[in-house]
Amino acid sequence: MTRIMHFIKSMTLWELLQGMRVTGGYLFARKITIQYPEEKTPISNRFRGLHALRRYANGEERCIACKLCEAVCPALAITIDSEEREDGTRRTTRYDIDLFKCIYCGFCEEACPVDSIVETQIFEYHFENAGEQIMTKEKLLAIGDKYEQQIASARTADAPYR
Ligand code: SF4
Ligand code: SF4
Repeated sequence: MTRIMHFIKSMTLWELLQGMRVTGGYLFARKITIQYPEEKTPISNRFRGLHALRRYANGEERCIACKLCEAVCPALAITIDSEEREDGTRRTTRYDIDLFKCIYCGFCEEACPVDSIVETQIFEYHFENAGEQIMTKEKLLAIGDKYEQQIASARTADAPYR
């Protein structure tokens, strides 16, 4: 009986028809693929992408060089040097993040008391030369300046996915 069934299945291309049934089912189903990079999927406001250092509205940098982010970073990716300014406030003279070490855990962002170091929703970036993975203070501030609006809106509780 088994041999007869096997013969019938072979003659009617049964397995092929089964496979085609699966293909046919997906032919008319709703498409879930997108044409990246022209089309993008929604990103959660809690997504942790490229880092940025923020400023206050008056242009003053938020970071007060408390080094909490450096202390909490489990990957030892942050290096900070600081000095006291003439007005008595403390600011960083060096703020580096090594993105090859970073594991994007978000601890630095959570530890920061002044909402200075943040992780943006930027995930499309690359490096072409050795050393470019070191995000210096200047680079981080430039990202913060460029994307401040997006950073600020993503941090409101009722911000929608974008
Ligand atoms: S995201 Fe995590 S690993 Fe990366 S710099 Fe911040 S604390 Fe360190
Ligand atoms: S980024 Fe925030 S946690 Fe890190 S040193 Fe500056 S103020 Fe402190």
